[in-house]
Amino acid sequence: MDCIFCKIIAGEIPSAKIFENEWIYAFKDINPEAPCHILVIPKKHIASMDEITEENSVYVSKIFESIPEIAKLGGAENGYRVISNCGKDAGQTVFHLHFHVIGGTELPIHVFPEK
Ligand code: 5GP
Ligand code: ZN
Repeated sequence: MDCIFCKIIAGEIPSAKIFENEWIYAFKDINPEAPCHILVIPKKHIASMDEITEENSVYVSKIFESIPEIAKLGGAENGYRVISNCGKDAGQTVFHLHFHVIGGTELPIHVFPEK
């Protein structure tokens, strides 16, 4: 399968690893939007949040069980935000489920800051 995040998990594409266990892999975003910008992904190809099922949702649980530790390892000491873009309108560009963990600075509260 031609999926860059599957290749990152397999070690075929290098990445800056932050955390890994049997279920999940976390690494620095190549184009960070904050001092802490980590991507947390399941070690199973799930295309997006639309593809989460009763059978594979354990991967999502495992991601959220580890996010507090991952955020601290990434330097988000005073809080963080978790984002998953799902589909075209949300701007999803990589179709392997991933959660952005963003922090390390005060974040704008609104999705549309001009409002
Ligand atoms: P999306 O737009 O799908 O929510 O997020 C995809 C994210 O993956 C983007 O923030 C982008 O910077 C990141 N990304 C894309 N390709 C790579 C890569 O090869 N390595 C790393 N570390 N991040 C990547
Ligand atoms: Zn994949």
